[in-house]
Amino acid sequence: MKFYVMSLFPKLVTGALDDSIIGRALSKKIISIETFNIRDYTADKHRRTDDYPYGGGLGMIMQAQPVFDCYTEVCRRAGKRPKLIYMSPHGKPFTQKKAHELSKGGDIAILCGHYEGVDRRIIDTIVDEEISVGDYILSGGELPAAVLIDAVSRLLDGTLKTSESYMEESFEHGLLEYPQYTRPEEYEGMRVPEVLLSGNQGEIDRWRRRESIILTAKSRPDLISKCELTAAEKRLFMKNIPEESNIYTITDGKLTVRVKRLGAELCSVVKSGVEYLWQGDERYWKEQAPILFPTVARSRNGVLRIEGKDYPMASHGFAKKMEFSVQAQSENSITLKIEDTPETREIYPFSFRFLMTYTVENGELTVISRVENIGDNKMWFTYGGHPGFNVPLRIGESFEDYEIELGECADPTVPAMTEDMFIDFSNRRRVDEDGVISLNRELFSNDALIYEKVRSCTLRSRVSGCGVRVEADESFNYLAFWTRYPGEAPYVCIEPWIGIGKCADEGTLFRKRRGVLSLKPGGDFSCKYKIIPIAGKKPGRKTEANK
Ligand code: SAH
Repeated sequence: MKFYVMSLFPKLVTGALDDSIIGRALSKKIISIETFNIRDYTADKHRRTDDYPYGGGLGMIMQAQPVFDCYTEVCRRAGKRPKLIYMSPHGKPFTQKKAHELSKGGDIAILCGHYEGVDRRIIDTIVDEEISVGDYILSGGELPAAVLIDAVSRLLDGTLKTSESYMEESFEHGLLEYPQYTRPEEYEGMRVPEVLLSGNQGEIDRWRRRESIILTAKSRPDLISKCELTAAEKRLFMKNIPEESNIYTITDGKLTVRVKRLGAELCSVVKSGVEYLWQGDERYWKEQAPILFPTVARSRNGVLRIEGKDYPMASHGFAKKMEFSVQAQSENSITLKIEDTPETREIYPFSFRFLMTYTVENGELTVISRVENIGDNKMWFTYGGHPGFNVPLRIGESFEDYEIELGECADPTVPAMTEDMFIDFSNRRRVDEDGVISLNRELFSNDALIYEKVRSCTLRSRVSGCGVRVEADESFNYLAFWTRYPGEAPYVCIEPWIGIGKCADEGTLFRKRRGVLSLKPGGDFSCKYKIIPIAGKKPGRKTEANK
């Protein structure tokens, strides 16, 4: 394969390729590199090849004439018009796939820019393709050209010895290569993994595949879409993606919200430097804002009876344990999606699509859920939100400084909970005073406070006014408040629910439970609630200092 390189500094290219593997490919004549110094083709009597940019600006631009004439000479030497690649940060990023494609495509001419680049007319007429070596700016295209020649040449027959085959290498199968070791077995107390010394090739291959997946998940989780993985391998991959790369951030400049891919769970709601969302802590409750789908809270005997069959169902459903994928994303909004899988169909016999859209606008967060029945049968489901909020929100305040003001409320009583955790609507009590609940720990000694047909509330500090308002639409039948009891859990959950947990007066038949909705095949359902952080009074500096 022949490479024709046009450059102002050809030695920068050849110098990088003379030795080692590519040096060998050159001496074995698997490749040849012919360089053309663009300066030799200038018509300018001072041998100039660049000039100032029209329209002003810093730096110099390589002129069209020397490059055009140089390329004419390349074509003459080649006896044809070889494909011309311009190394440029504007090009598509170079990949192993591209290297394979070029290695099969015939001779290549490469144009190396320098200074601020080349006159656009060159790109518009003779350049076939622009290729970048990454999102950074180098001084010239020479090192990128050497990179391209190296990557392509090692794929050509005969360049690598069979012992150096590229087949096992990173990117060849979408994954990064497994960790490698060589002699000695032990170096300064660090031992080579035992399996590699076992001589059991099957075991070694399995170990390598596994390590390859873990390593790729840790350092290049973005490669997942390019890997061919079995269901189990995909789970292993997902488990090893570092937390940070599985979190999406949306903002309107005032309110910044972060959402995890796992369970489409909110993990941060920050406004004016205050974190409103509970940050999760094993000591009290490690979740932050799970999504409750297709059931809310517990089911009698842990099962849902659907069409005469009992399906085991965990409290709050399974959506919170699923990896969502991104359906749409913009600066202030993200939509995450799950669909049924063979695993979900074993515990919930419907084909569905479930989407969560989080949008921040004017300092408010809107949470929209959408359920689509994509199967052939009528399906039943319910849904609820479960965000926890930090209480207290301000340093120096206490849990008891906070109150919840209930929105419009026809019946201010809450049902009691039986000893085996059934909601008992025949046994009600009242904990508010004029629609305001003053927070204290004992309120939660009988689990959550569940209000019927209350769709909004404001949780706030009587001291600073700092708090959060939740407004749910008409679809939501219940609003529940909960924190871990007993203890000093520093959060309260405000939970708009459509359905509800197991009730003393209901059986296991799913469709007959309170708040369970149905969808015809092809039908869809959406509901919406809002989280509105309230800043309250500016922290009084003087008061703080006076303390
Ligand atoms: N002014 C240009 C950068 C010019 S850099 C711009 O802002 O887009 C000078 C030359 O270096 C380019 O013409 C190109 O040939 C080469 N070059 C720089 N960075 C590169 C990269 N990431 N990939 C490939 N070529 C690059």
